[in-house]
Amino acid sequence: MGQTAKKRITRLAPSPTGALHLGNLRTFLVNWAIARQQGWEIAFRIDDLDSPRIKPGADLHSIEILQWIGLNWDGRELYENQLQDKYHSALIKLAAAGQIYPCRCTRLQIQQRAASAPHADQHELRYPGTCRPLGEREINFDDPQYDGAAWRFWVDPGFVEFVDEFSGPQQFSVDQNVGDFLIGNRQRQPVYQLAVVVDDHQQQVTDIVRGDDLLSSTPRQILLQRALNLPGCRYWHLPMVIGSDGHRLAKRHGDTRVAWYREQGVTANRLIGLMAAWCGAETRQSMSLAEFLQWFRCDSIPRHPIVFSDDDHVWLLAEVSP
Ligand code: GLU
Repeated sequence: MGQTAKKRITRLAPSPTGALHLGNLRTFLVNWAIARQQGWEIAFRIDDLDSPRIKPGADLHSIEILQWIGLNWDGRELYENQLQDKYHSALIKLAAAGQIYPCRCTRLQIQQRAASAPHADQHELRYPGTCRPLGEREINFDDPQYDGAAWRFWVDPGFVEFVDEFSGPQQFSVDQNVGDFLIGNRQRQPVYQLAVVVDDHQQQVTDIVRGDDLLSSTPRQILLQRALNLPGCRYWHLPMVIGSDGHRLAKRHGDTRVAWYREQGVTANRLIGLMAAWCGAETRQSMSLAEFLQWFRCDSIPRHPIVFSDDDHVWLLAEVSP
């Protein structure tokens, strides 16, 4: 009997922590275009677990903006909050296998202890392993004695290697860079690293396309997939869009919200034209989504960060009637 190729599935997963900006739009558009050209399915998810940063209404806003651009997906939107029991089972399983442990260190304590330890990633403190259990590792996640503790994943020395479909071969030592990383908070809720692994499995995702700000998270997610016995994914990490000061798009670069440009009268085709320029088109030229899809080649995407320039901004607004 001949084998049928496994169905490929990707996902669009906005975090409803604010309005979509031009950098987000580029990632979503590229993700969508790769999927539609390759015949993959597209799942949609709202990453709404990070409750202090969630902005009410930002979920519907993101959906509406993406639909205005013309993007579509297959099936209903999934909210992370609907998956609480799945996260809980994953935590129980990891605890029973001795792969996570409770941690009561404060940030200050970690800073003090980590200050003398070498670590490669300057943005994150390497956890020095203070709370690592000395004896029995297999524990009951729900035991009340752990109330109020955060949860860390036990990382063994060694390298995680994978080949990124866009950024090429990667090699990370999670142990050296971040050490035993957090996967659950003090309310027994999963944090991003674990949630995303459970979510992607739930949605049967095979291909993850996202900004390369998450590249250093991928090895952590790979370790979690292995620990949970889940199939691995293919990754496509794209260079970020940055401001002319070299930093990723943020409020200080002015209003870079897609919705702001729409309010000024900028059309979806104009925005798509700028996105094409950011994907390697030689000139900026308005284009429809169908034209973009026909034109788009993943290979043409520049390998370096894209700078959102003043000229881009002026060009976007050039056809708006005063
Ligand atoms: N929701 C995340 C974001 O908007 C994406 C998570 C992921 O791709 O893993 O940055």
